[in-house]
Amino acid sequence: MATTQNKDYYATLGVKKTATSDEIRKAFRKAARRYHPDVNPGDKRAEEKFKEISEANDILSDEKKRKVYDQLGFYSDQIDPAQAEAYARQQGGAGGGGTPVDFGGFDFSGFQSGPGQHPGPQAGAGSQSWGSFKDIFSGIFSGAQHPQQPRGPQPGTDLEYQATVDFWTAIHGGLARLQVNRQETCPSCHGQAHTGGPAQCPECNGTGQVTQMGGRMKFNIPCPMCNGTGRTANACTTCHGEGVVNRTETVEFRIKAGTRDGQRIRLQGKGNAGVNGGAAGDLFLIVRTGTHPVFTRVGDDIHVTVPVTVPEASLGAKVDVPTIDGRAQLKIPPGTQSGQKLRLRERGVESAQRPGQRGDQIVTVEVIVPHLSDERSREIMRELGKLNNQDPRVALFDKL
Ligand SMILES: [Zn+2]
Ligand SMILES: [Zn+2]
Repeated sequence: MATTQNKDYYATLGVKKTATSDEIRKAFRKAARRYHPDVNPGDKRAEEKFKEISEANDILSDEKKRKVYDQLGFYSDQIDPAQAEAYARQQGGAGGGGTPVDFGGFDFSGFQSGPGQHPGPQAGAGSQSWGSFKDIFSGIFSGAQHPQQPRGPQPGTDLEYQATVDFWTAIHGGLARLQVNRQETCPSCHGQAHTGGPAQCPECNGTGQVTQMGGRMKFNIPCPMCNGTGRTANACTTCHGEGVVNRTETVEFRIKAGTRDGQRIRLQGKGNAGVNGGAAGDLFLIVRTGTHPVFTRVGDDIHVTVPVTVPEASLGAKVDVPTIDGRAQLKIPPGTQSGQKLRLRERGVESAQRPGQRGDQIVTVEVIVPHLSDERSREIMRELGKLNNQDPRVALFDKL
């Protein structure tokens, strides 16, 4: 049987057994400043240490609790200080001072009968009195963890991935693929996390109890490893008892026509697998739509910049412009300026939210000024300038 040692609260706080309450208080404050979780965020060891010093301070800063601890080598709320003292005196370890009390050969059934009764000669593990002791001391071990206990169904966690889809796939819809790293149900144990059924607990050899030392006194407690059941499950070697294994998988998903950039797609059950029959999490995809060299998508609208000549812009014209459905004719009104925006109604993207509706195509006109390489053209341009000699900068200076 394994034995768990009692805690030395004096060593935890780094004080002598003869320390005054003032010394204990100071030692605790010093240690608390160092190990406080606020000072050590995310540090598990500091957190554990902080718990230990808090526990030590809780016992040693309380005169009554400290007295019990000094006499028995451990403390429980369920022990009456007077009883502890009486037993310490009876055993000849009187006067406190931290000398461990020898409870060897002591009949524990007398413990509950109160002081004054002479301890009987018979004792030992397995006698009926152990049962009541288990209850008395259970408070000390209430913080114990039971990591090897069989776990119930645990749901898998959700996953979130960004999925970049091709410009055209987002507009027309279609299938897209993405590599996802997810936890999958372990193929060896089928998510049970253990194999071969429950086995004997190695900590207590299947008895469900371990021996705890209180000074030189021994008493039994439920085995913290198997929670007193005496059995643990053999962890699966493939998944090391996790019930799931990591796997990179190509997920295929459907893109609805008109899917916008930033849209979320939920793939139910495609997140991490659950354990012990727990439901799988979901996979959330955040769609990033790809770009195009000619078209720029803004919501359901398509923006295009179209170059036009000076005569087309000045006299007006019908020009071919590209749309997401192919060529379309756009009427350039006479006197169109560079940068002006013209609208082709319902030539944009079919809406994913409102079926049957389409966005517009917005054409930005870019007037291309010709480089005149022949004298005849330059002459015409000069003549044009003379005929139309308005100063386009008048308004600019008027506003000064
Ligand atoms: Zn497994
Ligand atoms: Zn056990």
